[in-house]
Amino acid sequence: MISRAALAYAWPGMKFSTRVLRWYDAHARTLPWRIAPAAREAGARPDPYRVWLSEVMLQQTTVATVIPRFARFLERWPRVEALAEAPLEDVLHEWAGLGYYARARNLHACAREVVTEHGGVFPDTEEGLRALPGVGPYTAAAIAAIAFDRQATVIDGNIERVIARLRRIETPLPAAKPEIRAAAEALTPGRRAGDYAQALMDLGASVCRPRAPDCAACPVSHECAAHEAGDAESFPHKARKRWRPLRRGVAFILVRSDGAVLLRRRPAQGLLGGMLAPPTTPLEAAPLTENSDREYLDASFARYAPASVAWRIAAEPVRHVFTHFRLELEVRRGDIEARNAKNIEGEWRADALDAGLPTAMKKAVATGLAV
Ligand code: SF4
Repeated sequence: MISRAALAYAWPGMKFSTRVLRWYDAHARTLPWRIAPAAREAGARPDPYRVWLSEVMLQQTTVATVIPRFARFLERWPRVEALAEAPLEDVLHEWAGLGYYARARNLHACAREVVTEHGGVFPDTEEGLRALPGVGPYTAAAIAAIAFDRQATVIDGNIERVIARLRRIETPLPAAKPEIRAAAEALTPGRRAGDYAQALMDLGASVCRPRAPDCAACPVSHECAAHEAGDAESFPHKARKRWRPLRRGVAFILVRSDGAVLLRRRPAQGLLGGMLAPPTTPLEAAPLTENSDREYLDASFARYAPASVAWRIAAEPVRHVFTHFRLELEVRRGDIEARNAKNIEGEWRADALDAGLPTAMKKAVATGLAV
């Protein structure tokens, strides 16, 4: 049965993309990196710099989190030239808390390449965009479609869900990706490709939600196989949760008598590369278990400690999940008189919790300060 809301889009012969675009014209979300459909119709075009910045920020991060961070980035670096000139450390600092720090390093490298190799103008094809640092197939398609109206098929998590339900694709993710792509490509229109991509993103975010999809308000419900079968919510099927190996390490929170905390910049390569953090042991699959020989471990960790002081161990380790592994950090707190701290390498920060630390390291500092 078709609802009254869906009836408005159920005219026979109307193309799928036309239904979706009509719905978008009436229901598009207002987002700071977007041009509203009406303004676009009147000739306004999105700024490729803003589209690129938003798409990089939105990878693995929610829209609600990105909105204020996007505004701060733009205020600081309103154009790609300004971002290219910024020191990498400033960009990493501004990125703090958004996670996946390789994105920030690539963002900076990409801005530099756009300025030095392309005169500050983003390439306008998927192929040209993919040649830029940190721009993968998804981001290239999104920028090509949204900023340049190229006929590119954009598939983010929301769109994946809409298509899997629409065609009732039984294969679980991630194996279903090629099937979803083929179905999505067959539906991508030649005109208004950017609006169409954003329309499907919005449809997935606000109507075809992961839980309790609002099929009664959906412009394509009458052609949706999962809706017809009554099992929409079960799509897309997912393979069992990925197992992530565990890495362990120790974070040393050294507190000076005036309350400042010792931080060091991590090596450019490797986990959290280039970020400020408290000193740590290597963060690897260390044999730090309840049955470990503590005396032996203490001796081997001692060489990474920034000072020879009495270290107190926090009752609970800090736990953090990265894309490819879980990290468990034992937190050790040491205190040192200012006069004995003069020759210790690193930055002493009274504002350590606001110093732009990656989330796992901020948790470690907070834990250490509470010991
Ligand atoms: Fe999603 Fe329901 Fe629309 Fe199908 S009808 S696309 S399940 S909201």
